[in-house]
Amino acid sequence: MTYNNDNLTTRLAAVRDRLRKAERRFGREEDAVALVAVSKTRPAEAIRACAEAGQRLFGESYLQEATDKVAALSGLNLQWHFIGPIQSNKTRPIAEHFQWVHSVDRFKIARRLSEQRPEGLPPLNICLQVNVGGETGKSGAGLDELPNLAQEVAALPNLHLRGLMCIPAPTENFEKQREPFHRLHEAKAALQRDGLDLDTLSMGMSHDLEAAVAEGATMVRIGTAIFGPRNYR
Ligand SMILES: *Cc1c(COP(=O)(O)O)cnc(C)c1O
Repeated sequence: MTYNNDNLTTRLAAVRDRLRKAERRFGREEDAVALVAVSKTRPAEAIRACAEAGQRLFGESYLQEATDKVAALSGLNLQWHFIGPIQSNKTRPIAEHFQWVHSVDRFKIARRLSEQRPEGLPPLNICLQVNVGGETGKSGAGLDELPNLAQEVAALPNLHLRGLMCIPAPTENFEKQREPFHRLHEAKAALQRDGLDLDTLSMGMSHDLEAAVAEGATMVRIGTAIFGPRNYR
């Protein structure tokens, strides 16, 4: 796919507009929800075009292409969010090149990220990925293991535990879309009652952004609605 930069900026503006409308409709403050542009599978030039249109936060899922793009665009002052599955032998480049990781779902990964975070960089911002639907075979910590995991991760020196993330099973029904997001919101509130200082709910993708904003998302992760359908080769 080749990228027409005019199309890209038009789509980006349309997503921002959806976000602002959802904030108003659901009584959220203006700009309460940050937009992470999910650029996995997209070339560096598409990211550069978005950056020129004012987009700063980008999300990547595949480590090799991600570190290539981080290096190619290092002059642009972008904020990089790792949102994909993490193998424990691949934590070092994530700890070195990213500002945020949304997909931590076990302590071993968190401990390695903390150990491998280079000295001199600020703590790595972390969201714990939660399998809110309890779906078998899916990534994410279970709701039952979350309280312990969150306390352990919060105690690691080079991480800053910011909040929770989820990827619910897709559905077109708006009320059904809200349910898992509501559960994630409740889980965050419970951790806050336990004394954890959390400010982030990373939830909502191209097809369910509005439901996520309705349930308190502070970050949405949007790919297709900005860049068009993905071509996996
Ligand atoms: C790909 C991806 C997204 C973006 O999904 P779209 O449907 O393209 O908006 C968001 N979050 C995660 C974790 C992803 O892997």
